[in-house]
Amino acid sequence: MSGTHGAGNIFFGNCNLRCVYCQNYQISQTWKEQRRNEVSIERLAGMMLELQERGCHNIGFVSPTHFAPQMARAILLATEQGLDIPIVYNTNAYDSVEVLQLLEGLVDVYLPDLKYADAEAGFKFSKVRDYSHFARLAIKEMHRQMGSELVFDNADLLQRGLLIRLLVLPNDIANLESNLRWIRDELGPKTAISLMAQYYATNKAATDDRYILLSRRISEREWFEAVSLLDELGMEEGFMQEYESASHYYRPDFTDKERPFKDIRDFAKAKDNRI
Ligand code: SF4
Repeated sequence: MSGTHGAGNIFFGNCNLRCVYCQNYQISQTWKEQRRNEVSIERLAGMMLELQERGCHNIGFVSPTHFAPQMARAILLATEQGLDIPIVYNTNAYDSVEVLQLLEGLVDVYLPDLKYADAEAGFKFSKVRDYSHFARLAIKEMHRQMGSELVFDNADLLQRGLLIRLLVLPNDIANLESNLRWIRDELGPKTAISLMAQYYATNKAATDDRYILLSRRISEREWFEAVSLLDELGMEEGFMQEYESASHYYRPDFTDKERPFKDIRDFAKAKDNRI
């Protein structure tokens, strides 16, 4: 759990994907160690209320997919006890539509990744089958619940909506154009996206030759091409990072449980980076 006067994040241990470049690998792929951090649903609800008391403006559940039922019960419990700040579901999008339907009305902001457009890439780099097929179904369901409009409060903090994160990978492993075309054609050009330049080689991508295509940052040219696609395809809403600074800000260290991210930028406030 982390957060003070900003987003209050609750990181779940382990993950339903095993990305070879996971920047959270200290907690996402160490399932035996993570079992030691198990908490009850009542404690989870208590953590949410503590974050609200500290002044956090939302509760962000990070990698919640494999704990969605427990998360839902904790939200209900915390709401009964006075929780009233927005709930953010921060997911890799390998979620089932049936579970997302059960979350309707409990989640205020969906923050899904759309990692790849090709099934082979999902299998090779995240070890799951048919990632793009299932992620697109899941995001379609999120869009059905939220529509394309982002709702901000008077302080420009995001209160409700769907924001799809697209991490630009080296050598176009994500097949960004295909995903952007899908978003535009299936969900509409006003659907908000967050284009991210923060990729850096870590975990197996930094050490294992099988993943050599992911062993470097993206080049300035790759970033420029990604940004150009937004114009070309007529995407109208969302945020993008700055190329120069992105890879420094997002390197977490989960041995610091209170503040794993030293200088994470907040999408809700990043109006300067609007597309
Ligand atoms: S989905 Fe995210 S948290 Fe999970 S393994 Fe991949 S990069 Fe890590």
